[in-house]
Amino acid sequence: MPTVDVQLGDLERRFQDDGISYLMIQFVDIHGAAKVKLVPAKTLRAVAEVGAGFAGGAVWGMGQGPHSHDMFARADLASYTPLPYEPGVARFAADLYVDGQPHPFCPRVNLQRVLAGAREHGYAFNVGIEPEFFLVVKEAGGSIRGWDPHSVDDLSKPCYDFKGISGALGFLRALNDGLNQLGWGVYQSDHEDANYQYEVNFQYADGLETADRYTFFRMMAGQLAQRVGAIATFMAKPFASRTGSGAHMHYHLTDAQSGANLFADDSDPRGLGLSALAYQFLGGVVHHAPALCAVTSPTVNCYKRLQMGPALTGSRSGYTWTPAFISYGDNNRTQMLRVPEGGHVEDRSISSAFNPYLGIAAYLAAGLDGIARRLDPGEPNLGNLYTADLETMARRGIRTLPQSLPEALAHFEKDEVIRASLGPIADEFLRLKRDEWREYHAQVEAWEIQRYLTAL
Ligand code: GLU
Ligand code: MG
Repeated sequence: MPTVDVQLGDLERRFQDDGISYLMIQFVDIHGAAKVKLVPAKTLRAVAEVGAGFAGGAVWGMGQGPHSHDMFARADLASYTPLPYEPGVARFAADLYVDGQPHPFCPRVNLQRVLAGAREHGYAFNVGIEPEFFLVVKEAGGSIRGWDPHSVDDLSKPCYDFKGISGALGFLRALNDGLNQLGWGVYQSDHEDANYQYEVNFQYADGLETADRYTFFRMMAGQLAQRVGAIATFMAKPFASRTGSGAHMHYHLTDAQSGANLFADDSDPRGLGLSALAYQFLGGVVHHAPALCAVTSPTVNCYKRLQMGPALTGSRSGYTWTPAFISYGDNNRTQMLRVPEGGHVEDRSISSAFNPYLGIAAYLAAGLDGIARRLDPGEPNLGNLYTADLETMARRGIRTLPQSLPEALAHFEKDEVIRASLGPIADEFLRLKRDEWREYHAQVEAWEIQRYLTAL
């Protein structure tokens, strides 16, 4: 590790080359929303060593009140991100400190704690996230419509469609070019399976860097969308009759020293190219999945994306592409855990609305618990799980994912491993998320009026 003085010196030179005059010091709240302060670039040393000050009571889930001591967001110098869309400004991901100590309510501080625990066992966690999002426009009155400037994105099966994507080419190019300037290795982007929905794929990195990237991706997509008059939304299910937005997570453990992939094994007797260690990790994920789901699908709306039964095929395109069961299998998109190739796993349950710092921490804890207890996920499932019968699956011990936020929270409350992975954030999460459900449940919605008003 270079000393802080060397890092600061290097960055000051890079600021000159990149013409940086402002810094955006950024952390996330408990929901994963980016919070920032803009400071002059000449304060770099101060924001690295002391931090930019924030009132924690003004931010969700920081464990602070109006009386609490300031939170200081200290820039992580390794996270230097010159904004491709706003020349002269650079973002730094930051860790929160209070009274000179790392603040355990900071999701980024917490993730580093969990990653360090894994390193003590010799593991590093590599993660890639595939962001899906919609471009929409807000109508007067608060409803939304898809952003479709040429009125051509109206197919019932719009995935990959040339006409559908054509209006968004300028937006997508600006997004991809900018991310590639940052060295992210964007390798594809497409029109997704819902109208007005897009996905951009970039290279995986270690868990912390990927959480930083996913956060920045949401920031940048949002800013570029505004320039074409749209909102880039990462809510999980903006349109009831179309598929929602996932944040499929691809991952594997590596040897923290050598970097060797510990999930790969060509001689896997189950034929998926996974190691015994990978199966134990999957055993942990399957075991903790109902509680983990509260963290990886953390909003009321997320559960409208994860519905079972007829809703699975009720999307306008024919499928929701979301998991039917807590199951794993081969290269098969009806599984929660898909093994697209040897040596890594994809989790398809995760919602684009998740907090990547909390999600990755909880996920790693679930997998490591599987390794510690040598859990076995059973034999892989094959075939179309969208047509599998609930009772037959239940007899085989295969459960469904929680179907509502309170159901997931009840599992979360009882799961010591998942709760411990969030440290003191766990209680705050439970309280805020139960409030969120109560607030939602107190509404009387248009559907209820339509269904009940004159029914009797
Ligand atoms: N949009 C789907 C989801 O909500 C996933 C589509 C895909 O397979 O990429 O997870
Ligand atoms: Mg996709």
